[in-house]
Amino acid sequence: MRAYRVSEFTTIFNDIRIQKPELATYLEKIDVRLWSRANFPGNRYGIMTSNIAESMNNVLLNAREYPIACLLDELRKLISKWFMRRRERAMSQPTLFTPKVEKTLKKRTVIANTLYVQHIDAHRSHVNGGELACVVDLQQMRCTFCVYNIDKIPCEHALAAAMKHPNLSEETLI
Ligand SMILES: [Zn+2]
Repeated sequence: MRAYRVSEFTTIFNDIRIQKPELATYLEKIDVRLWSRANFPGNRYGIMTSNIAESMNNVLLNAREYPIACLLDELRKLISKWFMRRRERAMSQPTLFTPKVEKTLKKRTVIANTLYVQHIDAHRSHVNGGELACVVDLQQMRCTFCVYNIDKIPCEHALAAAMKHPNLSEETLI
């Protein structure tokens, strides 16, 4: 479940506390800022990854039995291969966005085209027509629903507001 607002998170977490109090205690002990999208203090860009050490451990399953020099050489080759593959994919992209962000923006643009936008001032707009009305601030990169605030990828409301600003492109919104 994705909770972008602290109020949404609190509602969901209270349900967890009622159904599994020991789980809620455990999760609080870990520190909600480390695993909750709504409470994370930085920018996540829509990414909630698992532990990188576990991922590396998994791909180096066989190499872990090698002597340390061979293990490090295997690690160097693996990381070089990943960087090369990512560089090639990035160079083949038609925009500055990753393929995942590009796909997300396409879906959101379809919805954005159905929304009604009314400007408040040079940067802020009322956006209506989705689940609820909201206010978007394109300069602050914020929306009432907080998806834009946290992911830093424009939500359908921000895209709708940007479409009404003739000097803005999608790339200026990130
Ligand atoms: Zn929004």
